[in-house]
Amino acid sequence: MALLEVKNLKTYYFLPESVVKAVDGVTFSMEKGEMLAVVGESGSGKSTLGLSILRLVPRPGRIVGGSIFFDGIDLISLPEEEMCKIRGRRIGAVFQDPLTSLDPLMRVGEQIVETLLTHFEMSKDEARAQAMKYLELVGISPERFYDYPHQFSGGMRQRAMIAMAVATKPSLIIADEPTTALDVVMQAQIMDVFTRLKEELDISFILITHDIALAVETADRIAVMYGGHLVELARSEIIFEKPLHPYTRALLEAVPNVEAKDRELKYIPGNPPDLSSPPPGCRFHPRCPYATEKCRREEPPSMIIKDQLVKCWLYG
Ligand code: ATP
Ligand code: SF4
Ligand code: MG
Repeated sequence: MALLEVKNLKTYYFLPESVVKAVDGVTFSMEKGEMLAVVGESGSGKSTLGLSILRLVPRPGRIVGGSIFFDGIDLISLPEEEMCKIRGRRIGAVFQDPLTSLDPLMRVGEQIVETLLTHFEMSKDEARAQAMKYLELVGISPERFYDYPHQFSGGMRQRAMIAMAVATKPSLIIADEPTTALDVVMQAQIMDVFTRLKEELDISFILITHDIALAVETADRIAVMYGGHLVELARSEIIFEKPLHPYTRALLEAVPNVEAKDRELKYIPGNPPDLSSPPPGCRFHPRCPYATEKCRREEPPSMIIKDQLVKCWLYG
């Protein structure tokens, strides 16, 4: 059984004048101990997808269709009380800005202790010992247990958040742009922590990032989102070596190449679609160099070509 199974998920934001179809029919599944990166430009629906799985979509957003099964449990029809037990315990979350999630007035170690005491029956001493172990696991020396969040660097705060998420022994952690605010060295350190946790504790990760290069380096598989649709899904090395979807190719071409003579930063011409009135047919057609009449009229189905999912008429 897959750890996570998302089928035809639809999450819309209901604004006074329009409906924003942020996630519009997304299907994928994940195995235990796997890292899946979700990539795409700003506004493609990545965060809304993550929030949907956590059932934390803010108003005026709402899941309007599809299903999410986690470890065989139907998350969409689960009463909120039961969902609360899964969220933060079996599914953890790490967001971009750890300062908004850490209590500035409480020592970092004590915050992990509190998390442990909320979720498990144990003495305070046991919880303290475990909290130190988790700090060590993410590369923070146990002496820093009594520091306050402001005494930590950005990268350390992010690692403390990860320690807090891991302390509840989740099987899945959803990390939304966890390193966007950090420099490349810290980014690499955090990615190492994720890889270690995945290997040592068999935790699965959904890594949400706009950085396809980071995804290729770190994740086992990559899901590419465009305008609320999942347009390609395959193993990272396949996405890198043999991307099928014109949008995936454009994303990869836009990655600055250190060795290239012309260091001109490429970008994808045109703008992402307005999800309150997305273009008909393939949502990428206004920006696609291969668009045909059919692309402008009919939405392509998702096709599987040798384990690689692609939503494009070039392959249909
Ligand atoms: P980014 O890379 O900028 O974080 P994203 O891929 O995470 O983008 P989402 O934040 O999921 O994209 O947004 C998808 C669409 O839903 C966008 O059109 C966005 O404007 C809209 N949206 C997101 N949150 C809300 C909200 N709270 N209210 C209304 N619309 C929203
Ligand atoms: Fe381009 Fe057509 Fe494929 Fe869309 S379906 S990505 S417009 S070729
Ligand atoms: Mg986002």
